[in-house]
Amino acid sequence: MTSFFSTLNKEFRKFESLDTWKQLKEDGNSLPWYFAVSINRMPAKYLISKSISCSVTDLKLASEQELWEEYLKLMGIFLDKWKAVRSGEVDIISEMAGQKTSLMDLNVELVNRMLTHCNFCRWNCQIDRSVEIAAGAGQTKKHGTCQLESTSKVSSYFHHRGEEIVFRGIMGSGTIFFTSCNMRCSFCQNGDISTDKDNGIIITPNMLALMIWQLRMEGCHNTNWVGGDPTIHLHTIVQAISMLDSFKVSNPNNEDLNYIEAVKADNYGRYSTWHTNSEYAFYQKQVFNSPQLWNSNFFMSKEAMYILRSLMDAWLPDFKFGPGKCALDLSRTPWYWDTVTNNLKLIHEWDEDFVIRHLIMPNHVDCCTKPVLDWIAKNMPEVPINIMDQYYPDNLCDPMSTKYRERYSEIARSPTKDEIVRSYQYAKDLNLNFETLSLEKSVFGMKP
Ligand code: SF4
Repeated sequence: MTSFFSTLNKEFRKFESLDTWKQLKEDGNSLPWYFAVSINRMPAKYLISKSISCSVTDLKLASEQELWEEYLKLMGIFLDKWKAVRSGEVDIISEMAGQKTSLMDLNVELVNRMLTHCNFCRWNCQIDRSVEIAAGAGQTKKHGTCQLESTSKVSSYFHHRGEEIVFRGIMGSGTIFFTSCNMRCSFCQNGDISTDKDNGIIITPNMLALMIWQLRMEGCHNTNWVGGDPTIHLHTIVQAISMLDSFKVSNPNNEDLNYIEAVKADNYGRYSTWHTNSEYAFYQKQVFNSPQLWNSNFFMSKEAMYILRSLMDAWLPDFKFGPGKCALDLSRTPWYWDTVTNNLKLIHEWDEDFVIRHLIMPNHVDCCTKPVLDWIAKNMPEVPINIMDQYYPDNLCDPMSTKYRERYSEIARSPTKDEIVRSYQYAKDLNLNFETLSLEKSVFGMKP
C-alpha cells in the first residue's frame, strides 16, 4: 500500500496536502471517507456493493416487495462490510470475484421497477416512464413534473473548476450535467438546461460510464452528478455505476468516445488539454475507482435515498428555502421543507460525508437564510456548509431577459453587502462550520 502511494502523481499529492483538509479536521468534520476514496486509499462504495451477494438469483422474477425485503437484508451486510473496509479488515477485490448477483444488481433492478411507477422524487408521479413513445405517437401519454420518459440526456461534462475546494481540488470535479429538473426555480442559474428537456445528447448507461471513466482517468477527484437534478435520471445513473468496475486502463470504445465528446465542454482536441493517467483512477492498481458525489436539490423520495446509500461516497445537498411559502412562490415546489430536512436527517443519521449548500437570496435572509441556518445549528451543527453569496438574477428573474416576470421583482437583483454580512454573522453567532468552505468561495470577499 505504502509503495503505491509513493508513486502517486504530483497533482494527487497536492490534492492530498491541501490546507483545507487540516482546517476541516480542526472544524470537526473533514469528510474522511470521501477523501480516502478520492486518493484511492479506499474503494468507492459501488465496489463494496458489488462484493455483496444477493440471494435472489433471478431478480426479474421477484416482486418489487420481495426485492425491497432483500435490499433491507443486504443493507445490514453492506454497513458491516463498509465498517470492516474502513478498518482494513476486508480485501474487497477478492470478495468481488465470483459474485453472480450482487447488491449492485439489486439496485439496478429496483430503479428499473421504480421507473414503471416513477417515485424517484417527492412528486411521486406514479407515471410509467419505462416505455419511450416515438415522436408524434404519444400525445396522450402522461408525463410527470420532470416531463421525462426513460431517455436521459447530458448537456455537458467536464472538469469543473468552480466547485468547493474539497471537490474541485487541483484537477477539477468530474461533473456531468443532465437536462430537465423536478423543481421550477424562477431564478435558476442553469435555466437553459433545467427548463429544456431536449437540451444535450441522448446517452446510454454505457456512454455515461465512459464519461466517468474519462474524467477520472484525466485526474478528476470525483464523479459529480448534477443537473437540473440527477434524481430524475436515477435509472440511467445507477446502471452506469454498475458498469464501472469493468473499465480498464485502455480506451474501451472509440465510437462511443467520439459521440460523447461532442458535449465535453473542456475538450480542445482529444486529450490535448488533459492527459489520462491510470494512477488517478484505480484502487490497488486493479479496479476502476471514482468517488461518487450526489449534487442535488434533495427533493428526492425515501426510496431514491435508500438506493443511493450504497453508492454515494459524498453528498452535496442544496438547502434553499425556509419553512414558509417561499419554495412554492419561487420554485413552484410544495412539501419542500419537510422533504429536504427529512433527507438531510437521513444522511446525517447514516453518518455520511456531506457539505450543505445555501444560497443567500435578496429579500430572503429573514424568511429563508436564518431558518435554514437555525435548523442546521439545531440538528447537525458540525456539518460543513457553503453559504454562497454568488446569487444574481437569472432565468425568469433577469430584468434584461424576455423571460422576465414582474412577479419575481423582489429577487431581481443581487444580494446587498448588508444581506451577505448579516447572513455570515448569523452563521458565526450560531457557531456553524461554514467559514472554511464559504469564505474561500465568496465572490464579494465579505466576512462576518
Ligand atoms: S422523477 Fe419525480 S417528477 Fe419525474 S416522473 Fe418521477 S416522481 Fe415525477
